[in-house]
Amino acid sequence: MEKIPTSRTQREAWKSNSALNHSKKFFKIPPKKEKAREILLERKTLKVIVEMITGHCRLRKHFDTLGIAFEPDCRNCGMEEETAHHIVCECPASG
Ligand SMILES: [Zn+2]
Repeated sequence: MEKIPTSRTQREAWKSNSALNHSKKFFKIPPKKEKAREILLERKTLKVIVEMITGHCRLRKHFDTLGIAFEPDCRNCGMEEETAHHIVCECPASG
């Protein structure tokens, strides 16, 4: 694990806050803001990838399956159901 220099106040606050116990398993000292933003971006990216791979994403076909929306067709081209595979690999409007 990479050691990141932090101020003494940050380290003391980090150490005494029991609400951060789960995070402390990953970081022995508080990560710098820049590092935290990097991790957050990675997490958001990972979330989108998992959603796309599993099909549990904010696309019409999934909402149709859940009974939330009743128009599964692609809102970009209207030619196929709006699935992750269609958007990434097939949709002529995507690219
Ligand atoms: Zn399409």
